[in-house]
Amino acid sequence: MALAFDEYGRPFIILKEQEQKTRLRGLDAQKANIASGKAVARILRTSLGPKGMDKMLQSPDGDVTITNDGATILEQMDVDNQIAKLMVELSRSQDYEIGDGTTGVVVMAGALLEQAERLLERGIHPIRVAEGYELASRIAVDHLEHIAQKFDFGETNLEPLIQTCMTTLSSKIVNRCKRNLAEIAVKAVVAVADLERRDVNLDLIKVEGKVGGKLEDTELVYGIIVDKDMSHPQMPKQIEDAKIAILTCPFEPPKPKTKHKVDIDSVEKFETLRQQEQKYFDDMVQKCKDVGATLVICQWGFDDEANHLLMHRNLPAVRWVGGVELELIAIATGGRIVPRFQELTSEKLGKAGLVREKAFGTTKDRMLYIEHCANSRAVTIFIRGGNKMMIEETKRSIHDALCVARNLIRNNSIVYGGGSAEISCSVAVEAAADKYPGVEQYAIRAFADALDSVPMALAENSGLQPIETLSAVKSQQIKENNPYCGIDCNDVGTNDMRKQNVFETLIGKQQQVLLATQVVKMILKIDDVISSSDY
Ligand code: ADP
Repeated sequence: MALAFDEYGRPFIILKEQEQKTRLRGLDAQKANIASGKAVARILRTSLGPKGMDKMLQSPDGDVTITNDGATILEQMDVDNQIAKLMVELSRSQDYEIGDGTTGVVVMAGALLEQAERLLERGIHPIRVAEGYELASRIAVDHLEHIAQKFDFGETNLEPLIQTCMTTLSSKIVNRCKRNLAEIAVKAVVAVADLERRDVNLDLIKVEGKVGGKLEDTELVYGIIVDKDMSHPQMPKQIEDAKIAILTCPFEPPKPKTKHKVDIDSVEKFETLRQQEQKYFDDMVQKCKDVGATLVICQWGFDDEANHLLMHRNLPAVRWVGGVELELIAIATGGRIVPRFQELTSEKLGKAGLVREKAFGTTKDRMLYIEHCANSRAVTIFIRGGNKMMIEETKRSIHDALCVARNLIRNNSIVYGGGSAEISCSVAVEAAADKYPGVEQYAIRAFADALDSVPMALAENSGLQPIETLSAVKSQQIKENNPYCGIDCNDVGTNDMRKQNVFETLIGKQQQVLLATQVVKMILKIDDVISSSDY
């Protein structure tokens, strides 16, 4: 810091840039980073598994979210620390690529960091630890392939898919209804899937929610639902074989712009203008009728007079439909979005077997169902629930289930859950460690210990003694040579996960191991943290 004077003699202070920065180097940097990573993992650890706890998060503007989904918890947490942000990224990548296993991946990364800390304290160089982890992760991924099983399903035999989705849903708040929701998710995915090419476009599945009713009322609609109603209560509530005009241009008489001036100084002039306006709109309605439209869906609104006229001319209309919905309607019904009224032709109309308006309960809430659409296989999952938080959480859980079903259609290999795959990998990695003569051996063993943390967390969250349960299951796995023994979280009476039907996708599990290792390696390689002192 130095005091200086400007050309007018006024004093000012010069701060050197370096002084504003704090700096951590070497082992201190690694330890600080590991501590931040572990702190994030600790938050998620209690949420893992079917008996995991939920978290309540409040946003700065007071919105409350209650969730069990790792990616969502981290997403909503306002973290400042850069390493914590890396963990958030980690969960997000798992969500993006696989869609499920977002809590598990962070718990695994946290355990790897914890083990690394011990190795660093014993004087092992971080690069050595990173290399050992890399080797161990490859062993684990190969081993997962080894214990994976294929399962068969077809359009007539969807039960295995439903079972897998149920495993995903069983650890969520909505597990009360897991059978129902799993069936819906699987049917939705199969409806949009191309089973021959093993491809699923999840964009074709729309998930809508409306507060009211109960979770059991959640339904799958083979079509699209729009949260809108007919613009006039006396318009027909049901249209069969609808031909839909999808408009993004205003559907009303042109309004005089402010720049123009119209002098109306007599009643006659006003009448003429009114008639002209009415004729203009009449022509528009006629044009729609001429091309054969039986329903008009507009992005914009129209006034009461236009609305009345539409009802009179028997042309049902829906107004204020959002851009995203319009696009989806256009895709599903094989129609074209018409941006200018003059361009409306009969080929551009969308076609749907049935369009109906459905009212809910005693409320005035109505939704528009567009079903039996011409072209596409787009479907909608319509969620009902007691409150907004429940609906949001159901949406997230359904998303996980949809992703799991999609992953299985892409690749039908599975590994068993409940920590059994992790324990089996841990045994394999531990056994492989002895083959390495170098210091990596320690890191490989540490990796095996870290893998154990997932079943330990599952046991702990279910109220079991973690160390005792783990050691019992591990010895059983080795004794019976059965890699499917896991933690019996729900106290079913057997810890054979095949009998409990608890499985996860192979690619999801492999991705967890790979992503967690990658992030931990990245954190270990940082030996200098330079940050501005504001933080
Ligand atoms: P994630 O966000 O990582 O999917 P979850 O909270 O959904 O986290 O927990 C998933 C873990 O719970 C997996 O390891 C899975 O094997 C395990 N799990 C799910 N259902 C059961 C069950 N019924 N019994 C034992 N373990 C289960």
